[in-house]
Order: sequence, then structure tokens, then C-alpha cells
Amino acid sequence: MRVFNFSAGPAALPEPVLRRAADEMLDWQGSGMGVMEMSHRGKEFTAIAAKAEADFRALLQIPANYQVLFLQGGALAMNALIPMNLLGTKTSADYVNTGEWSKKSIQEARKYCRANVIASAEDRNFTYVPPQSAWTPDPDAAYLHICTNETIGGVEYFWTPDAGDVPLVADMSSHILSRPIDVARYSVIYGGAQKNIGPAGLTFVIVRDDLLERALPITPSVFHWKEQAAAGSMLNTPPTYGIYIAGLVFEWLLAQGGLAAIERRNIAKATLLYDCLDGSGFYASPVDPACRSRMNIPFFLHDAGLDAAFLAGARENGLVQLKGHRVVGGMRASIYNAMPIEGVQALVDYMKEFERMYG
Ligand SMILES: *Cc1c(COP(=O)(O)O)cnc(C)c1O
Repeated sequence: MRVFNFSAGPAALPEPVLRRAADEMLDWQGSGMGVMEMSHRGKEFTAIAAKAEADFRALLQIPANYQVLFLQGGALAMNALIPMNLLGTKTSADYVNTGEWSKKSIQEARKYCRANVIASAEDRNFTYVPPQSAWTPDPDAAYLHICTNETIGGVEYFWTPDAGDVPLVADMSSHILSRPIDVARYSVIYGGAQKNIGPAGLTFVIVRDDLLERALPITPSVFHWKEQAAAGSMLNTPPTYGIYIAGLVFEWLLAQGGLAAIERRNIAKATLLYDCLDGSGFYASPVDPACRSRMNIPFFLHDAGLDAAFLAGARENGLVQLKGHRVVGGMRASIYNAMPIEGVQALVDYMKEFERMYG
């Protein structure tokens, strides 16, 4: 029996995608081969990769002057590769610190440049996004980096900063494809696939063409955006199976009605859970209501002594991976695109029942 899996990542995938991958495991569409066994330069895989990119572009309406790269290394590798690819002749970059993933980006960037923290939510334990009026950006920075959904703290941007002429770079690992975004407002969007796209091992980069001229000479070729763009992300062997599964997820999203339809579902799911938290004196959300993530929802039981019983009971009810990240504690429900509303309803029903028993 499949459970409702609230893992923050690697995370649940849509069941129809897994079934189709299973059907095609030994023989992809009459080729006599599974996708894992194909040459990345053969006509079968070339078609799979081209379709995946075209569908990703269609879903996000990515303008033609942006490259889409499918690389490896995850979002953490990008923390080094962003300064390497974007510093050019500059020596500093701006960062907004909204939580754990921002902090990691800042620490890594400091190996390569001066990383100025131009705003931080640390004063309120990373439970909000500092408004842009409180930022102190440097108009001469190489770029301005933000993390638009803090997976651990559960804080999400619902607005797009105006960075002026400074390239805006966004880590969207954990909410990409959860709603429409205006790609043209960003210079670079990147993330790991294992939250809302597909398997771990695949990393996407969406980068505007004019930014491809700024890489430091030391940038490794397989991570050099211009070289990878020229090679169609096939300078080295790309994560072929990850690209295939991502492509199936993109097809599934298009069949669901695209990102506007998915956003409506995600709002309904998140509202269900936040209403349960807010309507109870037993549970609480730590996050400022204006910045509450629709994808990652940390919450606390007022009596932390009941945490273990809550998790054990949840597991018995087929609700798994609800333990909060160690730096935040409590619980966290990650409800990405693949989580059906039935899963959130089952969680809310369980929470109400648990409150009746222990409240
Ligand atoms: C998961 C995550 C990362 C790290 O991704 P890796 O693939 O482990 O490198 C970075 N940023 C955000 C926002 C994440 O959710």
C-alpha cells in the first residue's frame, strides 16, 4: 500500500508518472531498451530530452532569450557555480538571508567573492521575508541572490523583488512549478529536481542569454553555463533517467491544466492545513501569515512532549515523513504538486483526532 509521503525531498512523485515509468522500464516505446540503457546521443534519448525541455518551457512560459540547462550537482553545487558563472570582473554579490538555504548560499559564495547580506530575517528566527523597503542593495553588485521558498523554515515569497539593473538570481528548488511565475523578472532561476520535479541528481538552470559571458576562467566546463548551453546540456553525460522522469512530470502537469490549475489546487491544499493550525489551540504555525509557504508547512504541537506519539500515530495512519527539520523542530508537512488533496485531508483528520485524544 502506498502511504501519503510528506517528505521535504526527495519527495513523492505523481503516481501516474511512476506507473508509466514502470510500464516503460524494460522497453521504452518499442525501442527494445529502457531509458537508463540508452545513449544520451541516440535519437530516442535526444527526443526525450527535447520534449522535456519544450514542456518545461511551455509550463513556465520561458522566454526565447533564456537557456534551460539540465545539469548535475544539486542546488548546493550551484551555490559555488553562481559566483563562478556570474562574477565577471566584479568581486561582490548581494544576498538576502531568509533561512537555512540562504545561509548555505552565502557561506559558499564567500569562497569566491564578498557576499553582502543586504537583509536578514534572523531577528525573528527566519519566520518572514524582509520587505524590500528594508533591503540595502549595492547597485554595483554582480548579482542579487534570493531563496524564494525556504524549505526548512516554510517561508515563501509571494512577490518579485525589483533588483534594477542587478541580475536577480533565485533558488526555487522547492516551489518551482507550484504556480505561474514571470520568468522575465529574473536573470537566473535554479534548483534541484528532487522536491517538485523528479529524482535527485538533476539540477535545472534557467539563465538569460546575456549573462553567459561572465564566467570566471576557473569555472569547470561541465558547470560552465555557456559551454553547457552550446552543447545542449550534453557536454558530459547528463542525468538521463532524471530528465526522463522530469519529462513525465511535465506531461502530467500539462494534463492537469498547467500551472494556473496546479496553483489553485496548491492553494486549496495549503489553506486546508493552515486553517486547521489556526483554528486550534493545540497546534501552531510559526510563520508570518503573509509569507507562509504553500509547499512546506512547519508546525508545532504546543506540548512537544507529545511529538513522538503524534509521529507514531501518523505513521500508523499511513502519513509519513512528518518530523520537522532538526533546526526548527516540531513537524513539517511538505505538500508539493504530487501530494493529492486527499493526503492533506487525511493529515488534517488525523490531527483533529489526535487533538481530541490528547488535547
Ligand atoms: C533541497 C534544497 C537545496 C539543496 O539541494 P541539493 O540538491 O541537496 O543540493 C537548496 N535549496 C533549497 C531551497 C532546497 O529546498
